[in-house]
Amino acid sequence: MRRYCGWKIIAGHILNESHTHKSFFTSYIKIPMIHRMINAIEIKNLNKTYKASKRMSEKVALNNITLDIPRGSIFGLLGPNGAGKSTIINIMAGLVVKSSGSVKIWNFDIDVNERNAKSCIGVVPQEINFDPYFTPLESLELQAGLYGVPKAERRSEEILEIVGLSDQKDAYVRALSGGMKRRLLMGKAMVHNPPILVLDEPTAGVDIELRRQLWDNVKMLNAQGVTILLTTHYLEEAEELCDRIAIINHGQVVVCEDKNTLLGRLDYKSVTFVLDRDVSDVAGKLSQFDCDVTGDRTLVVRYNSTDIHVGHIIEALQKAGYGIVDITTEQSNLEDVFLQMVSSSGSS
Ligand code: ADP
Ligand code: MG
Repeated sequence: MRRYCGWKIIAGHILNESHTHKSFFTSYIKIPMIHRMINAIEIKNLNKTYKASKRMSEKVALNNITLDIPRGSIFGLLGPNGAGKSTIINIMAGLVVKSSGSVKIWNFDIDVNERNAKSCIGVVPQEINFDPYFTPLESLELQAGLYGVPKAERRSEEILEIVGLSDQKDAYVRALSGGMKRRLLMGKAMVHNPPILVLDEPTAGVDIELRRQLWDNVKMLNAQGVTILLTTHYLEEAEELCDRIAIINHGQVVVCEDKNTLLGRLDYKSVTFVLDRDVSDVAGKLSQFDCDVTGDRTLVVRYNSTDIHVGHIIEALQKAGYGIVDITTEQSNLEDVFLQMVSSSGSS
């Protein structure tokens, strides 16, 4: 099988722009593989303040964001609406001008080497924007043309296969379903063979089945070596896909960690007991624990699993004279971590 990432390996060299194919839109370059490079994207002290307009007052969207996105990762930018996720993506795509700070894409500074930086990422925007009168095949060919990809090196048919649109390649875009349009957007972002693919809210408003399909596409591309950066406000999506996650709130990084470290952060667990008699007076007897009576005979106890073993709680219940009919425990998930982090990061 041909690998998606077919860029040339020219160790240690950054190709001079005079050796590239140029078009009016951007340049198509052979992207150098820089062996010692660990990060696909490096963002340092990035700030963005949107100026006041007639409709909106001045808005600080990014407040000193510093982030490294490791090469080969599926990196999730997670945050509530308005957190600043799209602003970060749009700065990388060259659609929004930053106020200060620096962004390096595949080691190219966007201020110094804009063309090369751009040629190293494919951005799938949050909003769907297409000319409805082209077919998917024509759309990809056109996009490849804009990027100056030479005819012999275009892979439109192969890309349509990857995003599952081979059967629709000659249909008008306006006849495609919402999900197909999103996959075509992903295809368009891949025409110049970028080593980094950026997806802004890839599954917002799409149904469960299609979401799974998109996840599979993302995983497959990543397995072939593509670094993926995605934004989402679906915790489930980040939990399923990402190996590293940054939580953004009010334009600031609240936390940036490997997913498993992040999930392990919350050592609060809860255990639900069904007891053999009424529990109305139990809280007084177990005052050392955080208890919640949720039914005549059910009791929820939240505890910190590093300090307290569930056995201690059982012991205390038995000492108080209760028999235990049933026990269920719950692990914390990303949603718990997210809510805790976002609420403790406060408001701006
Ligand atoms: P997210 O993608 O996380 O939902 P955005 O980056 O779109 O967040 O927006 C961050 C903040 O910047 C929001 O408060 C939003 O209203 C504001 N914002 C975004 N784009 C503009 C713009 N073009 N002009 C003024 N304010 C903007
Ligand atoms: Mg957004």
